[in-house]
Amino acid sequence: MSDVNPYQSLRTQIDEAAEYLDVSDGQIERLKNPERILETNLSVEMDDGSVEVFRAYRSQFNGDRGPYKGGIRYHPQVSRDEVKALSGWMVYKTATSDIPLGGGKGGIVIDPAEYSESELERITRAFAKELTPLIGADRDVPAPDVNTGQREMNWIKDTYETIENTTEPGVITGKDLSSGGSEGRVEATGRSTVVAAREAFDYLGKDIEGATVAVQGYGNAGWIAAKLVYEMGADVVAVSDSSGAIYTEESFDPVAVKEFKRETGSVVGYSDAEDELTNDELLTLDVDLLIPAALENAIDESLAHEISADVVSEAANGPITPAADEILSDDDVLVVPDILANAGGVVVSYFEWVQNRQRFYWSEDRVNEELDATIVEQFWNLVDAYEDRELPSLRTAAYVVALQRVIDAGEQAGRWP
Ligand code: GLU
Repeated sequence: MSDVNPYQSLRTQIDEAAEYLDVSDGQIERLKNPERILETNLSVEMDDGSVEVFRAYRSQFNGDRGPYKGGIRYHPQVSRDEVKALSGWMVYKTATSDIPLGGGKGGIVIDPAEYSESELERITRAFAKELTPLIGADRDVPAPDVNTGQREMNWIKDTYETIENTTEPGVITGKDLSSGGSEGRVEATGRSTVVAAREAFDYLGKDIEGATVAVQGYGNAGWIAAKLVYEMGADVVAVSDSSGAIYTEESFDPVAVKEFKRETGSVVGYSDAEDELTNDELLTLDVDLLIPAALENAIDESLAHEISADVVSEAANGPITPAADEILSDDDVLVVPDILANAGGVVVSYFEWVQNRQRFYWSEDRVNEELDATIVEQFWNLVDAYEDRELPSLRTAAYVVALQRVIDAGEQAGRWP
């Protein structure tokens, strides 16, 4: 794993796309910087009566197309620059998917595994109190990200609603169904990753049925992607988590692997595995489809030459560094960029928000169908831009399309004062 600064990666990605757009340096500089960032220190009482201080951030990157939108991550690696990058990626993700939202992101520097549930609740509510003046259904709408889920979203919603003396489920998405969540939201990130991969295979004249797949990371995005691609008839030959990777000649049953991980804490040691691999060995396996579903910078320059997959569909945000990206495109590896591939999470968050505003809830089939249609439409839209404008990669195509959408919205609004 490389230590490339993800915010620098975002800036490079924007610069590369800007070469194909008719925009001024000032406009591009604006689109590379967050509008504002909250940096706060949360003092929270621990179960033993001591007090601990946690650094937390919320970056509101760009709101030209609608309320800031993006998750909240709990991880020791969270930093100001990481949150900046992730919030920028959200802007271009919502624009690539053409949903009327901007981009934001938040995070707490913490390893949640080291804290009890009641400590996590106090930490989350302390952050929610800091966020309350900044968020709102029409202002900034957080969601889950790495190491957060329905539980944390419900706490944030409740804290916000209590302070504001209102009911406002649309202030946050990724909630539990009984708190105003949407059917299909938990599976949405993994679902769009495989729908995008299916379309990429179609574009290459291949079928995803019978394809071999390696999945790096077995959290919410990775394991669901494994499950859904297996249901499409692909063979999931390798999966990993932070403890290591496992391999089989045939295919794992992703649900059984998940069950094993739930019981033991890791995929490593699963009985059907024929071999154990390192993380890099998994990433460089000769498979048809590779799904990086962990953190940023999984594939850097040094590893890129060894990638043997035909298609990479990015379930994680920023798993390929810009230098690695260039090598992959020279080597004809088709990369479906994160800002489309994993956009299912935020697309179904948008559906959740729409349902919350209307107080009218959809069936799971409707959510999944509308998600599928959104990803299919935008995938082929990117392919058109890629071919018609002779762009170097689908990622550049995504940034060209997304930047234009954000620029158009910003220009319509004008500048004030
Ligand atoms: N954290 C997810 C992402 O990176 C989802 C964001 C959302 O639903 O707002 O796209």
